[in-house]
Amino acid sequence: MKIIPLGAVENVTGSCFLIETEEKTFLIDCGLFQGEDTNNNQNKFPFNSKEVDFLILTHAHLDHSGRIPYLVKMGFKGKIFCTKATFELTKIMLLDSAKVMYEDYLSAKRKALRRGEEVREPLYYEEDVIDTYDSFFILDYDQEARISPNIVFKLRDAGHIIGSSYVELTVREKGESKRIIFSGDLGNRNKPIVRDPACPSKDINYLFIESTYGDREHKNFQSSYNEFKSAILETFQRGGNVIIPSFALERTQELLYLFREMYEKRELPPCRVFLDSPLAIKATNLFAQYYDYFDEETKRIYESGKNPFYFPYLILTSSVEDSKNINNIKERAIIIAGSGMCNGGRILHHLKHNLWSEKNSIIFTGFQAKGTLGRKIVDGEKYVYIYGEHIQVRAKIYTINGFSSHADKNILLNFISHLTNLKKIFLIHGEREVMLQFKKFIENSKTVDVSIPKKTEDIIL
Ligand SMILES: [Zn+2]
Repeated sequence: MKIIPLGAVENVTGSCFLIETEEKTFLIDCGLFQGEDTNNNQNKFPFNSKEVDFLILTHAHLDHSGRIPYLVKMGFKGKIFCTKATFELTKIMLLDSAKVMYEDYLSAKRKALRRGEEVREPLYYEEDVIDTYDSFFILDYDQEARISPNIVFKLRDAGHIIGSSYVELTVREKGESKRIIFSGDLGNRNKPIVRDPACPSKDINYLFIESTYGDREHKNFQSSYNEFKSAILETFQRGGNVIIPSFALERTQELLYLFREMYEKRELPPCRVFLDSPLAIKATNLFAQYYDYFDEETKRIYESGKNPFYFPYLILTSSVEDSKNINNIKERAIIIAGSGMCNGGRILHHLKHNLWSEKNSIIFTGFQAKGTLGRKIVDGEKYVYIYGEHIQVRAKIYTINGFSSHADKNILLNFISHLTNLKKIFLIHGEREVMLQFKKFIENSKTVDVSIPKKTEDIIL
């Protein structure tokens, strides 16, 4: 069999793996490129979409799901296997993605007209998203999906976001079974809402494992929670606002969960917490339907009749007008908005209005990819460019890393330690320097061949 990574390899985003066996050709994930390689989204797939038999989708994040409408538009007719929560959340993520692409297209078109240039149409429209719905096929965690007598797989709980999975795949060729894990994004431990990643099956021969934080240990959750609280209290003492760039899915719900806890413990002073993201508001409303996917503590909160994501200071601002009105507030506003890496969305307006003042704070709680505005701010740039203006960065910048939805080095090594019969590990989804460090850590803990594959490289198993 042959595996060709088409994304989520060193320094490249957009998870997508093409797998060719004697019987079938299929994909694991079909994600959008983000950050520095966004322009690659318009490139044609290096395969014929009509010849792909099926797709396994690990989770709803756009860097794993975002090119599915394009795949279907190009002639893919197979099933898309995923969990129920992944299906529901992917629908709203893709609809939002189509909307953003269309808005970007209109604005590029206006500029291009003035210059007499051509502009490319969006990768897909809302109708293309809706056209994908009939292709989805829902699987429970640990349910065996038998594609043929020789190709079987299971989705296991990855503990990364609601509905997220890693894939345990068995392919039988020439009388030999090959057992492979594709990690998707593996979650952190002891996080609110989601369960910890499921323990993998032992007998695995090949592992494709994400390496986002393969070089470091996360701070523990409680100390990050304390840091987060202090950042907010300090900002209020200075008479400023708190801006939190946040991913609409999972991170936002975790923040709401934490704010509710702070409120109940009387640790949150009177303030206004704005959830300024129509997408995050939709995702939060959907979360209530995923009771079965929650960890025990979140289930208990639901059973006691409370909504784990609501507290009285919370204000949901769906309309553009309500969002703009937030700009008039000079202190004690906490603004949660997307995009999580500040490369678009309403967060840009809030940064423009708040970055320049030393009274305000920006709290980063998620990964910032190279090339994004978020990464520039985290890396300490003194001026940034937003909506055609140079804005000075005088606000206090906090980076809280213990809220991560990705496993750190220890969790990844622990995952690997469960596997027996391993022939080779492939490091995916990470920056090259991090992968080189992680490779060393693995080699110190286990005798196994570790490889860092390149994009479009043929991996023959
Ligand atoms: Zn993810």
